[in-house]
Amino acid sequence: MRGGMTPASSPTSPVVKPWVQAIHPYIPGRSTADDGRKVVKLSSNENPLGTSPAAVAAFASAGTSLERYPDAGATALREAIGAAHGIDPARIIYGTGSDEILHLVASAYAGVGDEIIHVRYGFAVYEIATRRVGATPVVVDDRDYATDVDAILAAVTDRTTIVYVANPNNPTGTFTAKDEVARLHAGLPGHVLLVLDQAYAEYLAPEDDDGGLALAATAANVLVTRTFSKIHGLAAERIGWGYGSATVIEALHRVRGPFNVTIAGQAAAVAAVGDTSFVASTRAHNDRWRDWFVGAIGALGNAGLRCVPSQANFVLVLFEGQLTAETAYKGLMDAGYIVRWLPGQGLAQGLRITIGTKEETRGVVAALRTLVERAG
Ligand SMILES: *Cc1c(COP(=O)(O)O)cnc(C)c1O
Repeated sequence: MRGGMTPASSPTSPVVKPWVQAIHPYIPGRSTADDGRKVVKLSSNENPLGTSPAAVAAFASAGTSLERYPDAGATALREAIGAAHGIDPARIIYGTGSDEILHLVASAYAGVGDEIIHVRYGFAVYEIATRRVGATPVVVDDRDYATDVDAILAAVTDRTTIVYVANPNNPTGTFTAKDEVARLHAGLPGHVLLVLDQAYAEYLAPEDDDGGLALAATAANVLVTRTFSKIHGLAAERIGWGYGSATVIEALHRVRGPFNVTIAGQAAAVAAVGDTSFVASTRAHNDRWRDWFVGAIGALGNAGLRCVPSQANFVLVLFEGQLTAETAYKGLMDAGYIVRWLPGQGLAQGLRITIGTKEETRGVVAALRTLVERAG
């Protein structure tokens, strides 16, 4: 027998890698209640206004030659993104959602023995991407739910190869300002890749730009990621992109799946980039109803509900009084609203609620008011 393995010591079935066994699979936001009822979905931060009509039309007309592979270089998409942001299309990577890009980064820059830093209340994919390649997740404390730059810098070791920071952060909605992002980058050794996940950047006011794209333009160790799943309303098509140094982008192409963005997805995304008025009206809707939501939760009085300050299209509501997050989660489900409860991420005390349409936002607050009154 090749390798000399004796039958007695040979496993009888394939052996999963221990670091893969350690992964807690991602739990997606739900769209149905426990009893199977279809409910209002405020659990995945999707666009309540739908999708740009131009993107829907481009998607529909892309279905005429399904036997051909898509453009493996996503040329039109990179050019559209480059023109919209004033960045070099040659330094743009694209992925099956920005999730794929987060995984590509770990594949290219981390393995067994390496450490990857993320914040305690961070995006669940960071830990999965870390473990998948056998690297060690290093989880740092928050500062009242916000990203703590000093805690991240204090956690860096010789083994650190990547820091993942979402800005605004999910599930907290908190924002790390430009000077803090610059301070974080300045404090990192050159061998550590700073991944700035800007999945919600389009919801920020222009003056709140965190400087990520400008940093990535010149720094060798910064990658910015963006997605079409949130403000562009294209979550179904799974398209994301990233911008970084030529060297980083070249490394990510090595591990990328070939033809990883579909023809219809590329066409829809190109049209979505061009529909700036759809993006602007989505942001305006979100500003208005997020403000209204936060005000309405505040107006519930001293029931112990507190909104973590959010600059995204969702709000993390903390339940620090009689009404617990778990009871509220179930009560909202009974009332027809699915929100995100994340006890597995150490957030048993909060609910992340996506800002929906006007009716949905008013409805979820009315349901919460009833639950607060019932809890006494
Ligand atoms: C939604 C989200 C993403 C993007 O996911 P896609 O794979 O592009 O759909 C990335 N990061 C964060 C923090 C998110 O919330």
